[in-house]
Amino acid sequence: MTLLTGKRGLIMGIANDHSIAYGIAKCCAEAGAELALTYQNDMLAKRVRPLGETLGASLTLPCDVGSEGSINDMVKTLKKEWEQIDFVVHAIAFADKAELRGAYLNTSRANFHSAMHISCYSLTELARTTTPLMQEKGGSIITLTYLGANRITPNYNVMGVAKAALEASVRYLAVDLGKHNIRVNAISAGPVKTLAGAAISGARHVFRHSEVNAPLKHNPDMNEVGRAGLYLASDLSSGVTGEIHYVDGGYHHIGVPTAE
Ligand code: NAD
Repeated sequence: MTLLTGKRGLIMGIANDHSIAYGIAKCCAEAGAELALTYQNDMLAKRVRPLGETLGASLTLPCDVGSEGSINDMVKTLKKEWEQIDFVVHAIAFADKAELRGAYLNTSRANFHSAMHISCYSLTELARTTTPLMQEKGGSIITLTYLGANRITPNYNVMGVAKAALEASVRYLAVDLGKHNIRVNAISAGPVKTLAGAAISGARHVFRHSEVNAPLKHNPDMNEVGRAGLYLASDLSSGVTGEIHYVDGGYHHIGVPTAE
């Protein structure tokens, strides 16, 4: 495929080869995109650098979105090396694991702030800092969300609140950036077995329930989410912005599952 030949994309959120961001990066690289990857810290650099090599990524840079300076340094390097980019994938979320169990009612102030900062505000900060590199040709920004933004899913707690704010951010950013032909969309993925997914208490139950009750009878694999990322990064979706695109086997349509 050559859907992304000649395009350059920044992929943020690879922790290992099970990460959703890796699935999107793989599909985009196979479609001809030149990639820059980021890693959160030195520990993850050891995993992300070799993955960057297998993807033929031109740049592999540190970026902790909790730090304004780290974001600015990363964007500065991107500007120096590339001048212009075509798409950004934001596949980043964090909340204290101790509060991804039990009642939402018990969410601490500190965890609320950090979950909102890392999982939601970082999209806005990255949109503001990276879109100057898209001004000439337009571009595409893609983030990752989950059904827990709109419906209660067990133990998702503060992450559901952060994802609801993230989805609202997608719509506001889509309006702010539309005049520059920059599109902003989210993929709402069904459960995928990743490090972040495993941090949620009872993840196995949610995984099984979604799998059994989704119309397509399976949870998405990372290639299915990856191909949705490719669609949103490419000109195939040139008329689409502000959208929450579900890749969950149709699970979100179900009110009461059909009795077997
Ligand atoms: P993952 O653990 O592979 O990826 C999460 C990434 O967030 C990691 O690479 C981690 O380094 C990064 N991150 C966390 N804090 C950061 C910080 N301060 N600075 C920079 N990076 C930071 O898990 P994943 O499931 O691939 O998660 C990617 C996205 O997909 C998340 O937004 C997640 O909420 C979303 N999502 C996951 C599922 C699922 O079932 N796994 C479903 C729907 C949506």
